Amino acid sequence: MEQEKIEILSLLPEQLAAEIKAMGEPAFRAKQIFRWLHVRRVFDFAEMTDISKQFQSKLRERFYINPPKITQKLASTLDDTVKYLCTLSDGNCVETVRMVYHHGVTACISTQVGCKMGCKFCASAPLGFVRNLTPAEMLGQIYAADAGFPEEERISGVVLMGIGEPLDNYENVMQFLRLLSCSEGRNLSLRHVALSTCGVVPQILRLSQEALPLTLSVSLHASDDGTRSSLMPVNRKYPISELLEACRQYFEKTGRRVTFEYAVIAGKNDSDSAAAALGRLLRPVFSGQRPHVNLIPVNPVADTGFSAGSAVQFQKKLERQGINATVRRTLGADIAAACGQLRRNQMHSPAEEGEQH
Ligand code: SF4
Repeated sequence: MEQEKIEILSLLPEQLAAEIKAMGEPAFRAKQIFRWLHVRRVFDFAEMTDISKQFQSKLRERFYINPPKITQKLASTLDDTVKYLCTLSDGNCVETVRMVYHHGVTACISTQVGCKMGCKFCASAPLGFVRNLTPAEMLGQIYAADAGFPEEERISGVVLMGIGEPLDNYENVMQFLRLLSCSEGRNLSLRHVALSTCGVVPQILRLSQEALPLTLSVSLHASDDGTRSSLMPVNRKYPISELLEACRQYFEKTGRRVTFEYAVIAGKNDSDSAAAALGRLLRPVFSGQRPHVNLIPVNPVADTGFSAGSAVQFQKKLERQGINATVRRTLGADIAAACGQLRRNQMHSPAEEGEQH
């Protein structure tokens, strides 16, 4: 039976070395190939000029290289945000956004094709789940969004907030993070990475065991179970009390406070009593250290009739409750930078929605 080909861009240096050794080649070959792939970003064995033609054809028999290709690009005229539709080797599409901040350039990447979580405010949810992305497909989004930019404008931060629930693709996301931070390759510190979850409690606890220096960001969006369950079905399985207990344990284990995302929806979650309830819930989570909430001006969601509440007003209410709150800057408003919209349009769906993890 023919041996299944391996996606070479998903392999760590030591894994590639083991494969190359098994092919009877010296260890330095693996280093050469890893460098071609991850430093020079050459994705065709034929262009690896210090590898013999004979070995190139052996490599082609054993491995494949299929990074995502940018098939659509929308550049904001309001700021430097660029949104990419990346097409994968099987024809599926995901979105990647490149955002320029004063402290550097951040990529927002997708971790799955579609999503199972069904959040009501999300553009991806109605299209359902298709499949997990591989580590190479996540890393490939960063390489695609880096292409054509000089070294000093390359991506220096990554947020896993695009399409998909990262903790529902746990193993591949972990392998991606190892690849992203490995010194022989992209060498990006995990301190500059934020992973956003809708609140998959067992996986938050599992992640706490990895003791990674990344920022864990939890989409909360409500201060009571009734409201949260109506927005996010995941809450029926893992209610707020369990979620915050997992956040507490995460902090205890890693020493890193979890940040909370909160989309402010008029008349739904922006009242004085919602702010007071949030204060009571969050103040005890990090042993007296002030919790931090990112307020997101909600995107219009046609099917549900949600409309934006005042994030600035809610910020004041939260600060009176002893909660640090910031209002997330809206980038690329003219190109629908909220994830899921471009892919959704590509899939010929009529509705105009916005996703906010
Ligand atoms: S908001 Fe995030 S977790 Fe929720 S359905 Fe959309 S992609 Fe999934």
